[in-house]
Amino acid sequence: MGDRTGIEWTDATWNPVRGCARVSAGCQHCYAERVAARFAGEGGPYEGLIHQKTGAWNGTVKLVPEALQIPWRWSRPRRIFVNSMSDLFHPDVPFEFIAAVFWVMSVTSRHTYQILTKRPERMLEFFHWLIARQGSEDLDFIVAVDGSLKGTPFVSDSAESAMDDSIHEAAQTIPEIRALWWEPYKAGKRGGYDNCGPGWPYENVWLGVSVENQKAAEERIPLLLQCPAAVRWISAEPLLGPVDLRAVSVPYVGTEGPLETSYRINALTGEKFAPPRWPDLQAGARIDWVVAGGESGPGARPMHPAWARSLLYQCTEAGVPFLFKQWGDWAPTEVVAGGDLGGDMRRDLVRIVKASRLHAWPASDGDSDGHFRPGDARMRRLGKKAAGRLLDGALLDEYPEAAHG
Ligand code: SF4
Repeated sequence: MGDRTGIEWTDATWNPVRGCARVSAGCQHCYAERVAARFAGEGGPYEGLIHQKTGAWNGTVKLVPEALQIPWRWSRPRRIFVNSMSDLFHPDVPFEFIAAVFWVMSVTSRHTYQILTKRPERMLEFFHWLIARQGSEDLDFIVAVDGSLKGTPFVSDSAESAMDDSIHEAAQTIPEIRALWWEPYKAGKRGGYDNCGPGWPYENVWLGVSVENQKAAEERIPLLLQCPAAVRWISAEPLLGPVDLRAVSVPYVGTEGPLETSYRINALTGEKFAPPRWPDLQAGARIDWVVAGGESGPGARPMHPAWARSLLYQCTEAGVPFLFKQWGDWAPTEVVAGGDLGGDMRRDLVRIVKASRLHAWPASDGDSDGHFRPGDARMRRLGKKAAGRLLDGALLDEYPEAAHG
């Protein structure tokens, strides 16, 4: 964790939780896991979190309450990636602790917090829990992401106020938060409490999900769109297949039907293609920001240029800001100067089929143009730095401006 990071879309990382477990294809070469394995020895910060033989996460998470105060001490506003070394919504992170994280974010509104999860079902459950704590029967709200959702989520003023109160109340159960409570009143303290809170949903908290392929998009985006947030975003990295955000299927999870099994939504505009019954999404909910990139590191899988171009096209069409983070280790051969592959062509070439599944062969399986099919992309392993982050010659570095709920 720290005030410096090589992650292109943020200024700093903040890790009040350590440790994780793999959940999907995007986790296969988890960067956090590799870093943690280096510091998992006796007395190290990741001791007990890594499987000794495999070097993979062992599924244990460690809460780091003393880290809750870190953003508090940063007086200069930053974009902060929350939990780069874990997943805030891992099932073993208590809701009270998540509430404490939200409380810190709410009272340090000078910062912008970027939360990214592969577990949006638990994120939604967390918000339901907050409401339930307030005993808001008037909301007719029954918690469920498991097929029993009922009620109208988060649409009234009372719900907004209940969320805020609930976060503040739950946060106080963490001693480190209680210790912070009087900090703002200590004269001469740098950083600290921002006088005006941002209101609910917190404008300085961006909620996002990782989307490595269409399956992940279908599973995670509908849940994200049910969560109250000022800014919702996706990180399509590592991008492992084509993703169409203009027709994401929202599964039926109600108990009164089903008349339909699902409906589709354009996640970039919020347009629904069939009148939904349950679950209803947040009013006007849509994806406000898309980050895309390829994989880097050992075993990195190449990203077909068409997948990145398609996301750029979709975002441009919908007016949604798009940030191209990196090619990763593999770049399309047109990125190589002059397109000259040189003598080591056989070693570095792969072939990617333009389909929903990614196939990659070493060049020895087919090293001439004659073996490529229409739509295939020729990629070369240049390494992350050399491959760079230009998409068709352009640096795409957009961020969301307007926050809306
Ligand atoms: S959810 Fe994130 S931190 Fe956890 S294993 Fe997957 S990639 Fe790694």
